[in-house]
Amino acid sequence: MATAAFTTPKLKPYPVIPLVQVGATSHLKPFVASEAIQKNLGFPGELVEDWQAKAIAKMGELLGKYRSLRVYMDACVHCGACSDKCHYFLGTEDPKNMPVARQDLMRQVYRRYFTFAGKHFPSLVGAKDLTREVLDDWYSYYHQCSECRRCSVFCPYGIDTAEVTMAAREIMDSIGMGQKYANEIIGKVHRIGNNLGIPGPALEDTLEGLEEDTKDETGLDVRFPLDVKGAEVLLITPSADFFSEPHVDSLIGYAKVFHAAGVSWTLSSMASEAGNFGMFIGNYEQLRKIALRIREAALELGVKRIVVGECGHAWRVAYSFWNTLVGIGAGGKDPFAIELQNQLDHRYKQPMHICEFTHDLIVRGALRFDKEKNDNRIITFHDSCNVARASRMGDLPGGQFTIPRDIIKAVANNFHDMAPGTIHESTFCCGGGGGLLTDDLLELRVKGALPRMEALKNVVDEHGVNFMATICAICKAQFSKVLPQYGFDMSMVGGVHQLVSKAIRLGDK
Ligand code: SF4
Ligand code: SF4
Repeated sequence: MATAAFTTPKLKPYPVIPLVQVGATSHLKPFVASEAIQKNLGFPGELVEDWQAKAIAKMGELLGKYRSLRVYMDACVHCGACSDKCHYFLGTEDPKNMPVARQDLMRQVYRRYFTFAGKHFPSLVGAKDLTREVLDDWYSYYHQCSECRRCSVFCPYGIDTAEVTMAAREIMDSIGMGQKYANEIIGKVHRIGNNLGIPGPALEDTLEGLEEDTKDETGLDVRFPLDVKGAEVLLITPSADFFSEPHVDSLIGYAKVFHAAGVSWTLSSMASEAGNFGMFIGNYEQLRKIALRIREAALELGVKRIVVGECGHAWRVAYSFWNTLVGIGAGGKDPFAIELQNQLDHRYKQPMHICEFTHDLIVRGALRFDKEKNDNRIITFHDSCNVARASRMGDLPGGQFTIPRDIIKAVANNFHDMAPGTIHESTFCCGGGGGLLTDDLLELRVKGALPRMEALKNVVDEHGVNFMATICAICKAQFSKVLPQYGFDMSMVGGVHQLVSKAIRLGDK
């Protein structure tokens, strides 16, 4: 398919390492954040006058703070093992989208200002001044990385390009060159409570509407409670679950699971967003500030458990960072973190993913399903990057891969995985993660989806797959947009709990 601006790549039977096209996507950059958006987050409103000195100082600060960043700058041996592992390189053919080249954009500046050889013999060691041209390259190519970590799986030194990208974005924010999409969303979370900017009363109306719809469908009073003090479970879910298709079908699925299990639960109008874009921009203060709303809501509502809905990066933040950020799980040491740890019921994992919650009930025989209700679907599963490569589920290694698949197999009869090398820890990004789900980067999103679309096409051709389940709000939104570009139906993507919702038997004891 061709749009006005670009042509969608052709699907091949398997990913082919492309011939490079220098500068193929140098024109792609997201809109720069306005002064108001930047100032909202405490960043300079526009590129500061002494931006070069400030950027180098910030880089020095990050190198001191994050030992890993310095190791990544020093350790690369340019072996090339990562060079063909990035979906954006495979889809755009731009050599600066090879992970090693992306890192080198920062590494050359690091060498110039932070190494002896680079300070004295820059041309011998590939060191470069941080010029305006280099800064523009940073803005462009560090916004062509979805922080998916696929390249790090293949690096013999475990160098994580995602962390380099986060550091670059943090440096750019600190000198007034922030990205509009991510920073605007963070501002909305602080102001209103969620990424979509849905105020409390609108959320209440929506949930009432969902109760009516579910009553029409099932004949039962399945509740979608909001701000209920004393509920057992606080569900933190992406705000897309409240309004967007197909996300809302998974929210209905969660509600049916809680109903069937007889567990009291609530949503929170204060913490009506699981997503945390603070991670995408690499900013600890924003990451923590966003996460603190959840602690505040949990303390106010007096809940015993915190469960996270289908959102990839939110689960990474919850699983990996909530403990030390805010004390959900064993971690934070401030009085509120300790209060929350005393309040939560530690017979359960804190936090717990909704898939772990449902899977546990299935294993214990507490849920019943009419699997044939999903017989119109031949299903595959897309592992979302942040769940696959930056978190875990359950008690066994690889639980983040088996648990969602086990749920699908418990609620549906037809399941086929995509090819090895494109799933589990080698999964390909949807193309829209890491704060890139914005229409100003549509060309990048379409091209970056190529490897996933190729793997999908194979199972469509071989097994007649007509549904791709996933547990990430960004993946769902991204695929809804790009599937038609590759000749697929946009309704082919949906959530795991969308499938649960269809098959779950309610009203049984
Ligand atoms: S983290 Fe993902 S998007 Fe970024 S360079 Fe590596 S493979 Fe590409
Ligand atoms: S695989 Fe690792 S060491 Fe090799 S080029 Fe890539 S980042 Fe450098």
